[in-house]
Amino acid sequence: MSGGKKRDFIREIIAGDLSAGKNGGRVVTRFPPEPNGCLHIGHAKSICLNFSVAEENSGICKLRFDDTNPGKESGEFVESIKEDVRWLGFDWEDRLCFASDYFDKLFECAVYLTEKGLAYVDDQSSDEIRRLRGTLTEPGHDSPFRDRPPEKNLDLLKQMKDGGFGEGEKALRAKIDMAAGNINMRDPVIYRILKTPHHRTGEKWNIYPTYDFAHPLSDAIEGVTHSLCTLEFEDHRPLYDWFVEKLSHRLGSSRPRQIEFSRLDISHTVMSKRLLSELVENGAVSGWDDPRMPTISGMRRRGYPPEAIKDFCDKAGVTKQKSTIELELLEHTVRERLNKTAPRRMAVLDPLKLVITNYPPDSEEMLPAVNNPEDPSAGSRQVPFSGVLYIERDDFMENPPKKFHRLSPGTEVRLRYAYFITCEEVVKNDDGSIRELRCRYDPQTRGGNAPDGRKPRGTIHWVSAGHAARAEVRLYDRLFEEKTPSASGGPLKELVNPASLEILKDVPVEPSLADSQPGDIFQFERKGYFAADEDSSGMRPVFNRTATLRDSWKK
Ligand code: ATP
Ligand code: MG
Repeated sequence: MSGGKKRDFIREIIAGDLSAGKNGGRVVTRFPPEPNGCLHIGHAKSICLNFSVAEENSGICKLRFDDTNPGKESGEFVESIKEDVRWLGFDWEDRLCFASDYFDKLFECAVYLTEKGLAYVDDQSSDEIRRLRGTLTEPGHDSPFRDRPPEKNLDLLKQMKDGGFGEGEKALRAKIDMAAGNINMRDPVIYRILKTPHHRTGEKWNIYPTYDFAHPLSDAIEGVTHSLCTLEFEDHRPLYDWFVEKLSHRLGSSRPRQIEFSRLDISHTVMSKRLLSELVENGAVSGWDDPRMPTISGMRRRGYPPEAIKDFCDKAGVTKQKSTIELELLEHTVRERLNKTAPRRMAVLDPLKLVITNYPPDSEEMLPAVNNPEDPSAGSRQVPFSGVLYIERDDFMENPPKKFHRLSPGTEVRLRYAYFITCEEVVKNDDGSIRELRCRYDPQTRGGNAPDGRKPRGTIHWVSAGHAARAEVRLYDRLFEEKTPSASGGPLKELVNPASLEILKDVPVEPSLADSQPGDIFQFERKGYFAADEDSSGMRPVFNRTATLRDSWKK
């Protein structure tokens, strides 16, 4: 056990198996995504668990694509999933596998079950199969085709494979027990006819194995020892074990064991590929990697560091309790990381012009500014200063309440890293709105300290107007205001928080920010963390707000 992690129940089970000498002392896990969408942070939990558990026990973890539904899957999703796993910091080395690599072996297993009288071809439609399957309280009824002799079944199965029947005309079912208390054991379908080309096997197959059949057998083929999955598969475990028992001797020496844990769920978002793809398809978001999405690619674009996602998965823990974690905890974890690593810069999101009337006309100077007070090794940079600046509009109030510590007529504030200033005049537009402030500065306070030791009550940030670069800033907020949007029943698109994206087109920023590269993350002082987006051009960088500065529960 490495990293001093406390042992969850899965790590306990694995430690127990190892000390009992099971599996020859090996630990083999797999992360098994279906390539029918991009990964979300729930998948990150499974990735962290599978890869870490293997590593802690000198075992291995495979990346296996569960590609048994050709209609919804694509090679593009395969590539995006690989990129996401790599970005999270995990390496499957040469252990990239696909269930479709095993289609021949899986078919041989189906033939074997059929020969042994453990599977049969059913002519009923899927609706009829469902109708006769019974309910939780009533047993199912045998299909009229259940007792076909094995030779006949074999012949029909081969015809299914060769394309002799249309979709839905036949299915191969395991012959288990139509009266079983567990509905999954009531003769589940193991092969269905699908005339859809597959992104890897092309037109070769007219029939495809179901997940319930392919998953345990793929695990057995790969020598997986612990098959970790989410709780919704708990009721499938007897079936998993049935296939392993009947077939694993044909596939290798391993007897994989399925263990279920509770899924990661987060408030104010949805965590299912089906719902996420609905948002993508109906244009409610700009794509799978929209920075509001709970996808790995969205979070990457938003500026969440992979380490923060892993920290968060650690905090969520591995249990069998269903729970929803507050989105704030994820944001807090992101801030914790970024506070230590993000260089500070100044940007003025809602600019108000400020003229320093006693600053020598047409002059400028460079002032040193600390890059990260949390990290002395980050050093400092030079920021240009002049007599015409921008400050945030809400850092000034003409008639402030008592507790207002920023700029107002007659009060002195500190300009961060620069000088103390006092506001002397408010210049207004015809409509009464404020056009600019006219202030005096104290040349004795260069660097933000006065020789007489006086201290203004407030410090505000600024950008020199003549030196500023211009940026587009995208302010992101939670995608849904509702805590559990999936429970509302209505169309998701209508629940999207209208304030989840606000675009500021022309934000004055420190000139050094013009050179940002996509993925660079900064703290804009007093405003939050911002990540340079891939849409950035040298002319006009785009910054995505990763997070605000403070935890909302502290507001
Ligand atoms: P979704 O419900 O979002 O479509 P899925 O389970 O169908 O997810 P898969 O690609 O089949 O998606 O999942 C790959 C692995 O990730 C599975 O082992 C699954 O159990 C696990 N997984 C999926 N969602 C979560 C989650 N929210 N928390 C933890 N593990 C998850
Ligand atoms: Mg699935």
